[in-house]
Amino acid sequence: MSREVISAIIRGTDGFVQEAETMLNEAIEAKGQDQAIEFPGTAFYLPMAYSLTGQDVQTLGQLKEIVEHCRELLPREPADKLWLPYLGDGLDAGAATLLALEATCAIRYLNNEPIEQGFTGFISDTILRELGIQLVDGRMPGFAAILGPAPSNEIAVHVIRELQKRSILSFLLCNRDGASIKDQLDEESVELGWDTYIVPVGRDTQSAIYVLNWAMRGALTFGGHAKGDWASCLRYCKERIFAFGITFGPIPEDWYAVGAAAILMGFPVISDHESTPEVRPTGVTTYEALVRELDHAQIVPTCIEVRGVKVKVEEVDIPVSYSPAFEGERVRREDMQVEFGGKKAPAIELLETVELDEITDGEVIVNGQDVDAIEMGSAIGLGVHVKVAGRKAKADFDGIFERQIHRYLNEAMGFMHTGQRDQIWCRVSKAAFEAGFRLKHIGTILHAKLHDDYSGIIDKVSVTVTTEEAEVAELVARARPAFAARDERVAGMTDESVDTFYSCTLCQSFAPNHVCIITPERLGLCGAYNWLDGQAAYEINPTGCNQPVAKGTCIDERTGEYQGVNEFVFDKSNRAVERFAAYSLMENPMTSCGCFECILAIVPEANGVMIVNREYSGETPIGMTFSTLAGSVGGGAQTPGFLGVGRLYLTSRKFISAEGGLPRLVWMPKELKEAMREKLETRAAEAGMGEGFVDKISDETVATAAEELVEFLAKVDHPSMAMDSLI
Ligand code: SF4
Repeated sequence: MSREVISAIIRGTDGFVQEAETMLNEAIEAKGQDQAIEFPGTAFYLPMAYSLTGQDVQTLGQLKEIVEHCRELLPREPADKLWLPYLGDGLDAGAATLLALEATCAIRYLNNEPIEQGFTGFISDTILRELGIQLVDGRMPGFAAILGPAPSNEIAVHVIRELQKRSILSFLLCNRDGASIKDQLDEESVELGWDTYIVPVGRDTQSAIYVLNWAMRGALTFGGHAKGDWASCLRYCKERIFAFGITFGPIPEDWYAVGAAAILMGFPVISDHESTPEVRPTGVTTYEALVRELDHAQIVPTCIEVRGVKVKVEEVDIPVSYSPAFEGERVRREDMQVEFGGKKAPAIELLETVELDEITDGEVIVNGQDVDAIEMGSAIGLGVHVKVAGRKAKADFDGIFERQIHRYLNEAMGFMHTGQRDQIWCRVSKAAFEAGFRLKHIGTILHAKLHDDYSGIIDKVSVTVTTEEAEVAELVARARPAFAARDERVAGMTDESVDTFYSCTLCQSFAPNHVCIITPERLGLCGAYNWLDGQAAYEINPTGCNQPVAKGTCIDERTGEYQGVNEFVFDKSNRAVERFAAYSLMENPMTSCGCFECILAIVPEANGVMIVNREYSGETPIGMTFSTLAGSVGGGAQTPGFLGVGRLYLTSRKFISAEGGLPRLVWMPKELKEAMREKLETRAAEAGMGEGFVDKISDETVATAAEELVEFLAKVDHPSMAMDSLI
């Protein structure tokens, strides 16, 4: 704390202590030491004295001890040339302010001084119970104490609306030259009261104690902390009550004293004035203690960031119904207004973590043609670029947050989303279009839901949705290295090196019996979740779709069957799947949902397997296209001989190792082969298969029928021909 700030705090506190001493002496003289004293509607006597000192103050005589203690707490103002670690003194002064203000206001009640009409004065325990529970359980994300009038009515309304939008309760306090922010809001006909979350408490500075001892009663009531256990009470306020102060204009000494009291309780103060020195060290408050924000458009976001308020967006403000009930809904071609991606156009979603100052929370930008400008029934490219920021956000979580886009968008009635990363396919139904659904609502949904589900990590979300061809291509180019980097993180880990795998049941909305088991050497079949993602997702949400699965006793090392995994899968598949083998295509393979990047299928004539990816629309040697195969493989069924997989599984040491692994691969679309050539060659070399294996894998330029395939394999001496029979 700077000398300037500490001096102002001490002078302000001294004023409050003197006022309390004078009023107390006058009251004792007039009414005697035994005169009862109390606040209306509380069981906590004088709540600050009760929580900080353990005293049940019921008489003026008992109050005298408290006021004397204030004087003891009050430090001396620092000398001009002396350097001192001022923080402790500032906090002592804050404690003195809390106790002195409470004494003054209690005596005012004793003297029957009227509360000005339109202000609440002391806040009762009943209101504490009604609203406080929302405050401590997170439904009401926090409260703001606003000191003084704003520089203009327009700014006053703007700040209040920004707080209201986030369900943050505003207490109006203090005045400058007699004017309060309440007057400004009255002039602008803003409705005030508990129902609108805007509560005028008092025109003077002393009334701040009503707000602070209301918060402190939260620690006593909801935290269950004992009277006098000041350390626990203060810690509770800091950790559980997300309050902060906003000051308009230069800060006078008495506001500084109240600010020190707030900071002692863990509540930071944000000032809009350039003359305010900042107090940036953290510890007493979660983050900074006293911060300047001169831009009134940014003052509320800054408060949220500095206090670490976890904003929840209660309603998803879109023109169609929004509920998990719509998650599994399909939009059929005949009901479709427009579609994005799939096989007809490029479409991509990318979520990235950025710095807090790089984005504006809630910003949604739409570029290119919107749904109403696209011809009905047609397909167009789409790019969804989500940026998130937060003090606890880290890039390791990007893949997890990004994978939620699938569920979030599907919960909108009439919007269908499948796939992930650069393989998404979305449809908007005619009914949703007629109800007013447009591309900006993708941003509305993602902003609301990411805040809702990850409020402990994400503080800001911005979304750009584009249908501009060049921008979609640009986003694809930007995203691919990010996707590759996520995949690389897990390289080098082995299944043997861990005793826990992770599950994923995110796709149960479409395939109720489906469970992905993700191991270090086998990623989820959508290709978007690897083992580290599963671990991080569990860290973020311990009750979510990704749970640790203890391997337990090994039943069969060859097929990768474990007792613990079997039990987990049986339980989570609605008792539909009894046995699960991690490395086999033929014996108890994993179930397949509908999100798989690729399908692996047995080609009996070739004694091997083929793989076909979602993007390939041509024929395969088993006489089925990807779409036909997907129809029979998906839905959460366990289908020996057929398996949905992430493409990277091809290069894993555990790739169908029960059936012999990579040497079984006899056919794949040329484009996929070329895209994976380097990784396949590396893996083939590692497996001791010699050079040239990748060229022995057939593709559609060589064979699209089983006979042609077998002929080719014989010609190139493909290893599958000499392996044990697959069937
Ligand atoms: S495919 Fe598997 S890993 Fe991917 S989201 Fe669905 S359940 Fe999770």
